[in-house]
Amino acid sequence: MIATTEIKISKTEHSKLNEVSLENVPFGKFFTDHMLEADYENGEWKNVEIKPYQPLLIAPSNAALHYGQSIFEGIKAYKDQQGNAYIFRPYDNFKRFNISAERMQMPTVPEEIFIEGMRKLIEIDKNWIPSMANHSLYIRPLMFASDEVIGVRPSDNYKFIIMLSPTGPYYAAPMKIWVEEKYVRAAEGGVGYAKAAGNYGGAMYVAAQAKKNGFDQVLWMDAKEHKYVQECGVMNVFFIVGNKALTPDLTAGTILAGVTRDTVITVLKEIGLVIEERPVSIDEIIEAYKAGTLKEVFGTGTAATVATIKELQYKDYNMKFDLTNLTITSGVKKRVDAIRSCEAPDTYDWMFKV
Ligand SMILES: *Cc1c(COP(=O)(O)O)cnc(C)c1O
Repeated sequence: MIATTEIKISKTEHSKLNEVSLENVPFGKFFTDHMLEADYENGEWKNVEIKPYQPLLIAPSNAALHYGQSIFEGIKAYKDQQGNAYIFRPYDNFKRFNISAERMQMPTVPEEIFIEGMRKLIEIDKNWIPSMANHSLYIRPLMFASDEVIGVRPSDNYKFIIMLSPTGPYYAAPMKIWVEEKYVRAAEGGVGYAKAAGNYGGAMYVAAQAKKNGFDQVLWMDAKEHKYVQECGVMNVFFIVGNKALTPDLTAGTILAGVTRDTVITVLKEIGLVIEERPVSIDEIIEAYKAGTLKEVFGTGTAATVATIKELQYKDYNMKFDLTNLTITSGVKKRVDAIRSCEAPDTYDWMFKV
């Protein structure tokens, strides 16, 4: 570890923990007592500090606000029966964060800050990890440009933050999904594979339209042919057809390489499903639905883990799924939950002890 990344720690005198009920706490609304902050200046990371959670002072000319050099991650931490804290697959998010950074012409963040800073921060705010079933501590790393100059060019300065938010169950209700054929989220050669802020801003208009029409989320399709499904809001998508699980492949660089996606693929293999990572056309989905072989559809992501999809609407064609017998969806969710709550052995080395 190099001297510049030593972590300074200033703890709060007034914990807010007794003001928040962690039971069924809504996603992303409450933050723990502390945050991590670091600055990138003159080509190096410095001022690494864990301090009381607080607002930042941002100049109106802040480059990220104008030109969108801003990336983030989403990770979860859990507590076992003995009260030990674990982070789920943080190295995968660490790698993906730096992939996003490179695509957005931002500096990479070293492991001593991203992983060790996160570990230390969680150690300090460990009492904020809810211990109820399906509850966890959501970890949000964030990096944004911090130059105070108007002008379209990569920033010289950046800020890295880690904040923590206790959370209860997410997306509890099965979702009605709108398959979007006009607007696109990501094109080949674009930034679809990066967790870059603008990807989400660009999706909001379309998501709002879908919501107005009674849908919960949008399922995006490819930008060229508007024919192959990509992903769903902030979730990767799986279709269970017969004894196969179909999910769009990552080669086009248009979808996020979800850590949960990878986890779910591993768990589906355990139960003997054939995994096909390849382009999946909406026509194929409709065919399978008509043939009665499309049994289950679900989304995967850190926030939701596995989210049931009850309906898909493509143009004026509606597909409804029988929710009374979702054996794969519920089996996968149970298996992943068991590993994360330390009830099942950590065979894949996914749990990182704080
Ligand atoms: C974060 C995200 C996902 C899910 O990734 P996980 O690593 O499983 O949380 C999927 N799609 C998009 C667009 C995302 O931003």
